[in-house]
Amino acid sequence: MLRDSFGRVATDLRVSLTDKCNLRCTYCMPPEGLDWLPNAQLLTADEIVRLVTIGVERLGITEVRYTGGEPLIRRELVDIVARTTALAPRPQVSLTTNGIGLARLAGPLAAAGLDRVNVSLDTLDPATFKRLAHRDRHADVIAGLAAAAEAGLAPVKVNAVLMRDLNDHEAVPLLRWCLDQGYELRFIEQMPLDAQHGWSREGMVTADEILERLSAAFDLTADDLEERGSAPAERFLVDGGPAKVGVIGSVTRPFCGSCDRVRLTADGQVRNCLFATEESDLKSAMRDGASDEELAARWIAAVARKRAGHGIDDPSFLQPSRPMSAIGG
Ligand code: SAM
Repeated sequence: MLRDSFGRVATDLRVSLTDKCNLRCTYCMPPEGLDWLPNAQLLTADEIVRLVTIGVERLGITEVRYTGGEPLIRRELVDIVARTTALAPRPQVSLTTNGIGLARLAGPLAAAGLDRVNVSLDTLDPATFKRLAHRDRHADVIAGLAAAAEAGLAPVKVNAVLMRDLNDHEAVPLLRWCLDQGYELRFIEQMPLDAQHGWSREGMVTADEILERLSAAFDLTADDLEERGSAPAERFLVDGGPAKVGVIGSVTRPFCGSCDRVRLTADGQVRNCLFATEESDLKSAMRDGASDEELAARWIAAVARKRAGHGIDDPSFLQPSRPMSAIGG
């Protein structure tokens, strides 16, 4: 098992398939993009599947989420998903994506056994989308969402980050639209993980603010706390349910005490936290001939070192040197 010194057990593995992305969301990276990892440093599909297999078969991983960067631009994605869903015990397999290309890939991904998708959509307005993501691809995301629902990748979840004076007036319209479409919306507080280090506490639209805005238009009641478990989102029934909305207050309402996540970067580094400043290099060990037992032992040691919390409020907090796109969100 992947147990840390505080007794938390990691069962949810987030795997970044690439650090590249076809959007440039302001809260994530600068408009000109980043220096992407050289191809030789990326794990191959076989290496990814080998590590995921070790996680599932030896280390108690029960849920695998493929992310990035943008996972849909990884050519072997459908094959990687199919090989993951063929593992025993069968993990839950999901995808976090910006939805561009999902219109074409939702069917093949569902056929490969993918269980669910989370699609990021921060605005209903194509012009705001272009300002926020620096690409004119709003229609592709909407089409991707529809294809995901059509392919049965349910519940289709939508992730939205609100930025002050950009899209923070859209909390209510976004929820109304998601309710109409049958998608489950989750707002994520903006975290200090952008490559250009532009995050500020004042700029962040907090969970309290989001809930205040939603409460002006909807009747929100807190969902059963027990059901939340280790889920990052606080969930609320909308107008008595069954529809729900989630708010992930990563900064102002941290949930580190119940965290069950561990991350694998596209270049094969285990990270025990989004905000970790240390990584454990499984790729080099693997390429140097490490056995599955040795890789599992390194992984166990990396999780054991997990800190109690992300420490954003500590005076000594340092933003990790890798941005979100390179860690895998
Ligand atoms: N490209 C995919 C996507 O757009 O969903 C997967 C990777 S992206 C890094 C995963 C999620 O992280 C997205 O929902 C995105 O909005 C969110 N995200 C990125 N940077 C963030 C930040 N600084 N704070 C909060 N969420 C962020």
